[in-house]
Amino acid sequence: MKNILKITLAILKPDVVKEIRHRILKAGFYVVQSRSVNLSHQQVEDFYSEHAGRFFHQRLVTFMKSGPIHVHILAHPEAIQLWRQIMGPTKSFSTQFEFPDTIRGSYGLTDTRNCTHGSDSFSSALREIKYFFPNFSYEEWSEKHEPLLRKGECIIDYSTFTHKIK
Ligand code: ADP
Ligand code: MG
Repeated sequence: MKNILKITLAILKPDVVKEIRHRILKAGFYVVQSRSVNLSHQQVEDFYSEHAGRFFHQRLVTFMKSGPIHVHILAHPEAIQLWRQIMGPTKSFSTQFEFPDTIRGSYGLTDTRNCTHGSDSFSSALREIKYFFPNFSYEEWSEKHEPLLRKGECIIDYSTFTHKIK
């Protein structure tokens, strides 16, 4: 009976997540906080409200609510620029040829399904971090944790993917 449904087991293996995490650590970032989240339609609309009205907005919303995402607060002296450099340019179609070693160049599928997000300025970063980590205080972190991270008094905890202060 050729139409009988059969079953198989599918696992999304850790290498995809692990590969990106490896690139984050290799670049010298400190991981301040991490969380995994499923965004609702409204949450994606809110997060990407700056792109409302653009031709790709609807497909961006559909994509971003399609499954869990991992969100990180990363720290580095050049955090904004360095993360954007490692991600590569927005449009994966051309980036796969022009910057093949970047994340988007390596794993991006389309100009919308381009693997990663990165804040474009310090003020955007503060606003976006507040969106996903409402209890995070940049002032408190700068005072208490930043000096310790900068001195390297921390160790990466792979189970939570955050740097813990020693
Ligand atoms: P970035 O994520 O590099 O900061 P933008 O803020 O301009 O880029 O756009 C937000 C997201 O919208 C992009 O990461 C991508 O998923 C999608 N996007 C942007 N421009 C296009 C485009 N021209 N075609 C399809 N999707 C796009
Ligand atoms: Mg952007």
